[in-house]
Amino acid sequence: MAKGQINVQTENIFPIIKQFLYSDQEIFLRELVSNATDATQKLRTLSNIGEVKGDIGNIQMEVKVDEKAKTLTISDRGIGMTQEEVEKYINQIAFSGAEEFVEKYKDKASVIGHFGLGFYSSFMVADKVEIFTKSHLEGSIAVKWECDGSPNFTLEEDDTRKERGTDIVLHISEDSKEYLGERKIKELLEKYCKFMAVPIKFGTKEINDPEHEPKTTTDKDGKETTEDHKKIAVDNVINNPTPAWTKAPVDLTEEEYKNFYRELYPMNFEESLFHIHLNVDYPFNLTGILYFPKLKKNLEVQKDKIQLYSNQVFVTDSVEGIVPDFLTLLHGVIDSPDIPLNVSRSYLQADSNVKKISNYISKKVADKLEELFKKDRKAFESKWDDIKIFIEYGILSDEKFAKKAEKFMLYKNVDGEYFTADEYKTKIEINQTDKNSKVVYLYTTDKDGQYSYIDAAKNKGYDVLEMDSPLTAHLVGKLEQADTNTTFTRVDGDTIDKLIEKDEEIASKLTEEDQNVLKPVIEEVVNKDTFTVNFVSLSETDSPMTVTQAEFMRRMKDMSAMGGGGGMMGMGNMPDMFNLSVNSNHPLILKMLAEKDEAKRKDMAKQAADLALLSKNLLKGEELSKFIKRSVSLI
Ligand code: ADP
Repeated sequence: MAKGQINVQTENIFPIIKQFLYSDQEIFLRELVSNATDATQKLRTLSNIGEVKGDIGNIQMEVKVDEKAKTLTISDRGIGMTQEEVEKYINQIAFSGAEEFVEKYKDKASVIGHFGLGFYSSFMVADKVEIFTKSHLEGSIAVKWECDGSPNFTLEEDDTRKERGTDIVLHISEDSKEYLGERKIKELLEKYCKFMAVPIKFGTKEINDPEHEPKTTTDKDGKETTEDHKKIAVDNVINNPTPAWTKAPVDLTEEEYKNFYRELYPMNFEESLFHIHLNVDYPFNLTGILYFPKLKKNLEVQKDKIQLYSNQVFVTDSVEGIVPDFLTLLHGVIDSPDIPLNVSRSYLQADSNVKKISNYISKKVADKLEELFKKDRKAFESKWDDIKIFIEYGILSDEKFAKKAEKFMLYKNVDGEYFTADEYKTKIEINQTDKNSKVVYLYTTDKDGQYSYIDAAKNKGYDVLEMDSPLTAHLVGKLEQADTNTTFTRVDGDTIDKLIEKDEEIASKLTEEDQNVLKPVIEEVVNKDTFTVNFVSLSETDSPMTVTQAEFMRRMKDMSAMGGGGGMMGMGNMPDMFNLSVNSNHPLILKMLAEKDEAKRKDMAKQAADLALLSKNLLKGEELSKFIKRSVSLI
């Protein structure tokens, strides 16, 4: 038997490993299973090039828990190691790898995926680790390596391992007992090893015996009974070694893409809208499939996230910094061995490879959207509502994407018609250009709530866009910047004549004197701090009174409600201010002037003002109930 001391530079690396990123202990399993996968892949390669002769047999690996013995074993049928190799790879290379890793990263938090700790990460959860291994080389002698977490190890001949391959046996420590639970291990295998390249067996499962056809018998009354299926136990393989993203797009059907989506997110019962298959090998290597989910109106953090893999080994599902922010709304997988994984996030964002990858993905997504739009516009339109937030977010946060999006960003009007930016401008240019030559885009954020305003605009021959996403306030600002000849106004931003100011003027039937008589009466029935009363000369068929809120003011409030990004600090707390515009040509207003009974005049003013509030959804609670009672008495 050889005894020895692992060459230790750092005082004692084991206690450090043990504590190392306590919350990430569980990655030990991923490290060991990926070593086993690597060893198996190496064997496959050697066999393919003829260096390993004969049939390599079943190469499935196995993870086993023995609660009684308190061990967790990872077994593979890979290349195995000779005594010299254990000496070299485990005592020297693996150790120095781990030592270097700890040295480098012990002070740095949030190291992505904590890759690189390798074999020695097993000491995070084990008091003692044994390796039983037999090399694939002909005539090689099986060996056992053992280490109890001190720098001392033993290495000796031991024929426990009869066939080619390696068993790593972890004697789980008292404070890591959870890793002796089958459920826990299953959960970890499913998280980290779901798509590793070699089949992994974990226990067995019962299935219906395919050899056995249950018999159906009919008794004398003609009643049929079918016997139960015969059950047999088969290996429970927990992973899919050839996930869809590792295949060529031409080899995949639409159904297979859908199935893979379900495989990725078994708890998500919605289907995705479409997918993008990523595949590059120069200047970096990256594969993956991104799915467009149906996005909800809110931008709250999604529970199904993009998963990052490195050669089919799960790394993380927080890909911020690796893909552009707006793309984190997508689902799917990215697999790239070229993303540096043992670095901190801040480093990652500055990495030039990562920048290239991020740009690549963003461009691919834009290209795909353009292609979908060109290929089948109707289908694209039908998905618009579900993807628009994503596209808006992209336009707002990524200049290059914004440029590309000009081709496929759609405007949707309240009648459900879709237009590209160019088409829409052409449509409204003639009718909706104001006296300052600006094309005025009217929009609503709430089709029902702003109904009467939309109706008034349509009666005037205007078109109204439906822009009801939480990013609307930001987006219209951005669009105005991009084309300074345009301006966006929410349909309830002003009275109909002022919404798009033209040169034509309507004469006012009320004189200034008349207005001075009525103004205090109206001011008395509304809250003066909130409403500014003014007179406008509209057509007599327009509403008698209208409540509006200045576009600028409302947009600022909307933006600060969304948080950041152009919203003025503290604007969200400002009280709402509205204009109450009185139509100086409306018969009702003229009637009010003619009414000499002050109480009656006040009632009329109140009723008209309440109606205006009501159509803006501002009449609530006690005021609403008083209004209803008053209306009933007036009928
Ligand atoms: P890394 O895998 O990054 O090289 P590790 O510390 O995990 O670092 O492993 C060190 C080396 O030990 C590996 O490169 C490999 O040569 C050897 N090794 C580890 N596990 C196995 C195994 N199951 N079968 C064969 N060799 C292994």
